[in-house]
Amino acid sequence: MAYQTINPFNGKTVQIFETVTDRQLETKLAAATAAFEKWRKISYAERAKIVAKVGELMLANMDNLAKTMTLEMGKRISEARGEVDFSARILAYYAKNAEKFLAPVKLHPVHGTAHMESSPIGVIFCVEPWNFPYYQLARVAGPHLMAGNVLMVKHASNVPQCAIAFEKLWIEAGAPVGLYTNLQISHDQTDKLINDPRIKGVALTGSVDAGRTIAACAGKNVKISSMELGGSDAFIVLEDADLDLTVKWAVWGRMYNTGQTCCAAKRFIVVESLADKFLEKFQVALEALKPGDPMDEKTTLGPLSSEAALVTLEKQVADAMAKGATLVMGGKRIDRPGSFMAPTILTDVKPGNPAFRDEFFGPVAMFFRVKDEDAAVALANDSDFGLGGSVFTKDIARGERVASRVETGMMFINNIDWSDPELPFGGIKDSGYGRELGDMGIQEFVNKKLVRHAVMDAPV
Ligand code: NAP
Repeated sequence: MAYQTINPFNGKTVQIFETVTDRQLETKLAAATAAFEKWRKISYAERAKIVAKVGELMLANMDNLAKTMTLEMGKRISEARGEVDFSARILAYYAKNAEKFLAPVKLHPVHGTAHMESSPIGVIFCVEPWNFPYYQLARVAGPHLMAGNVLMVKHASNVPQCAIAFEKLWIEAGAPVGLYTNLQISHDQTDKLINDPRIKGVALTGSVDAGRTIAACAGKNVKISSMELGGSDAFIVLEDADLDLTVKWAVWGRMYNTGQTCCAAKRFIVVESLADKFLEKFQVALEALKPGDPMDEKTTLGPLSSEAALVTLEKQVADAMAKGATLVMGGKRIDRPGSFMAPTILTDVKPGNPAFRDEFFGPVAMFFRVKDEDAAVALANDSDFGLGGSVFTKDIARGERVASRVETGMMFINNIDWSDPELPFGGIKDSGYGRELGDMGIQEFVNKKLVRHAVMDAPV
């Protein structure tokens, strides 16, 4: 696929980029391999200087970085600035805390002494999606570079300028050549790279289809991998929820980033006693959103990332309706230039309808009414995905009990799914495996080595 910037607000092609040749790719891989040999040996403090500097540069260049993101994938400008800020905070956090996470851990064997030590493993290849063009990069760069690995990153083909801008920050921060390499490569070259013995680990964030392909290639090569894939998170509303607050979170949870978030609330599961009121208020709130230029601060509904994304989503909604779903609102593109989808609510989505299992990557909410808490949990768990989810109730202990019963990697009480620099992010089932960020995330691509002190005499 060609790497190109197409402004989703007006469909205009801004710039097309060449993919690298195999020979150029070899040069970059050789540089990354050489960089690792030096980077692995320097102290955390030395690594932190560069990683923290990139975070500072992100903040200093916030406006330009945010505008590039809005231009390439249509994120509303205020959200784009928020993402730049968040990405900078991730880098700062790992610059400061990585050493603590990776410090040797003393073990307590029955005889003698032992500890675990952490060491980097080499060049990690990352494949990243367009929906959070900088956050996704910071999420791998902060932890894994601080752990002493080096990164080669294939970003999505529709955000090439964001990818280039992020790589430039490392150069500007004084990073050694090969420490962080942006790759504009084809899917075939992706396979070749994973097959190369100099690549020691593979991290993908993307769709389930991409996960199956890339995880299979990594598995064939017996390489460690982490897969951060799609989701169809449940947003459970129990009868004692604060309705107005819950509806505000519902709108934010479904519409943030124009609904193009892996851990967005996608299935709204509401107990009978609140269902009508919730649906009415949710619909009113979605109807109030105003489509417009994502560069304009006043716009409350941005375009989808591309015309292709819009066509896919419209088709999914039409198919869902053909198989029995009822349209409450929206359902179609908005009649204006650019890839705008009307905020949409579907009900009566039954098992057997493909929509019941699919991920809707855009402003489409599926609404379910259920008898009670048990039915809500059962429906939440009737999904191939297992990324995150949330539960709304005034009773926190009850919320925690429900959270424990939902089969996902993350659960939130009276809040939508979110990411914090210091907390692990990731899912189970088709949502993938492994974690990014937090203590668990930074450990994904390190060698955890047991060091045991002699405890008995050598056999004679
Ligand atoms: P995608 O089509 O899977 O693309 C993601 C990345 O994978 C892009 O860089 C893409 O490159 C690459 N890719 C796709 N197929 C490939 C293949 N066969 N070989 C090599 N590279 C391949 O996903 P998307 O539509 O951009 O992103 C949306 C998906 O990502 C959603 O399902 C969303 O839920 C998921 N996501 C998950 C998380 C998480 O943390 N769990 C976070 C964000 C997004 P090209 O652009 O060149 O095709």
